[in-house]
Amino acid sequence: MDPHLVQDIAQLPDVMSMVHKHAAAVLEDVAERDVLPTRAMPEAQPLTESGIGLRAALDDFATRWEPCLSASSGPRYWGFVTGGVTPAALAGDWLTATWDQNAFSLLDAAGHHLEQEAVNWLRELFGIGPAHQGMFVSGATMSNMVGLAIAREWLGQRLGIRPADDGAAALGPVRVLSGNAHSSVSKALSVLGLGRKALIQVATIPGREAVDPRALEQALQETSGPCIVVANAGTVNTGDFDDIRAIAALRDRYDFWLHVDAAFGAFAVLSPEHAHLADGLELADSICIDLHKWLNVPYDSAVQFTRHRDLQTRVFHNAAAYLGPLGADADPLHSVPENSRRLRALAAWFTLRAYGRAGHSEIVQRCIACAHRLADGLGSIPELQLIAPVHLNVVCFTLTEDPTADRVNALARRLHHQVFLTPTVLAGTPALRAAFSNWRTTDTDVDTVLEAIADTVHDLT
Ligand SMILES: *Cc1c(COP(=O)(O)O)cnc(C)c1O
Repeated sequence: MDPHLVQDIAQLPDVMSMVHKHAAAVLEDVAERDVLPTRAMPEAQPLTESGIGLRAALDDFATRWEPCLSASSGPRYWGFVTGGVTPAALAGDWLTATWDQNAFSLLDAAGHHLEQEAVNWLRELFGIGPAHQGMFVSGATMSNMVGLAIAREWLGQRLGIRPADDGAAALGPVRVLSGNAHSSVSKALSVLGLGRKALIQVATIPGREAVDPRALEQALQETSGPCIVVANAGTVNTGDFDDIRAIAALRDRYDFWLHVDAAFGAFAVLSPEHAHLADGLELADSICIDLHKWLNVPYDSAVQFTRHRDLQTRVFHNAAAYLGPLGADADPLHSVPENSRRLRALAAWFTLRAYGRAGHSEIVQRCIACAHRLADGLGSIPELQLIAPVHLNVVCFTLTEDPTADRVNALARRLHHQVFLTPTVLAGTPALRAAFSNWRTTDTDVDTVLEAIADTVHDLT
């Protein structure tokens, strides 16, 4: 055995507690450090022939790399839609690696059963009935991809072919209708062989990112044969919602698969005032919900639901004698793109067990309140204006005068000590978004950022 390995195993409790102390210190400081450090990246070093042991490796990481990492698990990283990691979720993630279970097969031990307990809790949380099967995947992109892969098989079933066996080309041209599909939907269509051009953008309600149901009906009328509709529950720019129930009702007259991308919007159900936004979620054929955003578990975690298990296993069936038969309760490896996979449900399991529905509802409601507090505060800074109402947890705003991409980006860059905001373009106007989904964020953070913005925006050239 390598001498460094021998040493690390001999001192295991000590080196583990060293890493634990280090992690605790990082977390103590995460709210104070620069949200996006501005220092130059360290130079990449070549691999050395002999190692240096865990202690020295931690030193090297702490010296060269850690100062360049963002405070993305902290309270003022409002870019993209980014959750942090609750203490219980962190414990779950550590134990995932500690146990290193391969949660892919029922031939193994309890991994898959624990995963299903967590799926059932998520089902209860989001009001999704037992008709849907739920599976853990690595993120919402993968969840959208799996949902659309099953939709592809459904289209085949309608046409009497099996794309899983015959290839996507056998389907001929496919239409995927959506008002404001997330970019990952195009990516999925590319991967699935349906092609990015299959995505047809349907008109949205004027001034909104939500699809216009009449325009959708028109597009369905113009479609011959079955198609796919992607409804959006929480758009990234403005957190807007399609009327899922109205869209689902169109299935009485038109033949389509309904996929709902509710990556972060599903969490609206945890706020009594906002629950109606996600109404009808369970009517979907497939549902995407991200967990490393608003559930505040570490990357990478999302859940994927579908009511069509048979089609799912047709797509993902991984036949091999040594993996056992495809039973009534299909192994995870027959339902998702991965075969071997970590027990990623454990972080979600821990945070749901530790804080329950009440704890996670409080996080969601506090995040929404913070979004409104930011929006209200921005209203008293004359150099800035909101360019969309706050539907949920996203605030989209820009400069009142001359909102060029250069000026908007410059503002974001100057705020990097205090906050990370991501630039976007809304209806042609460069803008900034603040998305609230971190469990640590409070009013005080919002006030700190408002002060920084007010100070910075004055002398923006
Ligand atoms: C974040 C997001 C995705 C993609 O999620 P990843 O976790 O980055 O893969 C898809 N759809 C929506 C609406 C999102 O907000």
